Amino acid sequence: MTATPDTIAAAATAPGRGGVGVIRISGRRLLPLAQQISGGKTPQPRLALYTDFLDAHGRTIDSGLLLYFAAPASFTGEDVIELQGHGGPVVMQMLLSRCLELGARPAEPGEFTKRAFLNNKLDLAQAESVADLIDASSQAAARMAVRSLKGAFSQHIHALVDELITLRMLVEATLDFPEEDIDFLEAADARGKLAGLQGRLKTVLAQAQQGAVLREGMNVVLVGAPNVGKSSLLNALAGDDIAIVTDIAGTTRDTVREQITIDGIPVHITDTAGLRDTDDTVEKIGIERSGKALAEADLALILTDPAEGLNQKTRDILAALPPHLKKIEIRNKIDLTGTAPALSDGLTLESGADTLIALSAKTGAGLDLLKQALLRQIGWQGESEGLFLARRRHTLALETAQTELDNAALCGNNQIELMAEHLRLAQAACSGITGEFTADDLLGVIFSRFCIGK
Ligand code: GDP
Ligand code: ZN
Repeated sequence: MTATPDTIAAAATAPGRGGVGVIRISGRRLLPLAQQISGGKTPQPRLALYTDFLDAHGRTIDSGLLLYFAAPASFTGEDVIELQGHGGPVVMQMLLSRCLELGARPAEPGEFTKRAFLNNKLDLAQAESVADLIDASSQAAARMAVRSLKGAFSQHIHALVDELITLRMLVEATLDFPEEDIDFLEAADARGKLAGLQGRLKTVLAQAQQGAVLREGMNVVLVGAPNVGKSSLLNALAGDDIAIVTDIAGTTRDTVREQITIDGIPVHITDTAGLRDTDDTVEKIGIERSGKALAEADLALILTDPAEGLNQKTRDILAALPPHLKKIEIRNKIDLTGTAPALSDGLTLESGADTLIALSAKTGAGLDLLKQALLRQIGWQGESEGLFLARRRHTLALETAQTELDNAALCGNNQIELMAEHLRLAQAACSGITGEFTADDLLGVIFSRFCIGK
């Protein structure tokens, strides 16, 4: 055993064959491990060392580059070693086994980043953006993730938190020193500061919400009676044949899910099997999955047939939809009636939708109208510059902070204690985003920043 306790190791490159494969190791003191594996060489921090990687018997497993990052100047803040070998699965496995032999243990998912967070190399929002960058499904998403990783989002949060602390100092000073009465708050323009804070929080929340849209996209379900053209529409949007299209009602046996991107926004579309009673087991499975897709959906596209309109089957399906679902009604097959594609909104339709789009899944006429309507429904404003690739966790926290600020603003001058509590909760919500523990050393801050002993 060479490595210090709780040294972790893992292949950092994707499994399978590749030109280069990287094993990453993080621990408290890794020089002995580096020496063991390289046959006694001592790597210099941040200089590539070309070396053989040796097994326990001194046989060469592979040769490649050994990189050594001495703590704390590393990704995790601990000693980090990277072994860059040939990217074959067997070679990678042998190198990893060698590291385990030397006392490392296999890293858990995300454990390097977790250590980076615990060692204050990254805050929580930045750590999350590491995963977002890797998972980015569009260039816009990748650019936003990098901005968050570099701390753009965290800076906005820190600025909000700093302002909140200043405000709390004022308000709590009034509590602790009752002789510093309401006049004191008014002189310091506490309510003006609170209003300014509400405004800035609103801006950050709006940016974060747009970012969350871009990161998480939207879930859309196609619903409608058999044969209205759900599968055809899915295929038309996806641009290839993934669902089975036939003239026989009930052919779509399974839900079929497809991800498309509209203007860089990921849109997951699920074709439902139809919510009909059936004895057919295959179809039953499909129907169960439809229920799940419906539960996760943000929006339903309700397809009707131009000849039949909203028939009884469709009414039954609509009755089964979760009430929160946004709805767009689609009148398909306009090529049969020779109608022009159109989008009308502000309507009160029987389906519960207020937007009606006439299109043809077969010819593609009107598909662009549908894509526009989808982006509008999700609230996308078409501009990704300056946004943060926020998560629901972040927008929820900011919404909580917003509610607390609103509540604080409602407090009268005889409810200063309550106001202080709302401000405290607002700060806790914001701090949760960057993962700081809101140790209540606020009094210390008050005394260091504020001259009360006048
Ligand atoms: P689903 O049961 O709702 O999934 O309907 P399908 O997509 O399987 O379509 C049923 C039938 O309607 C197929 O024969 C399609 O080719 C036809 N269809 C779908 N959309 C259109 C359209 O826009 N125009 C015309 N003329 N036929 C369509
Ligand atoms: Zn179908």
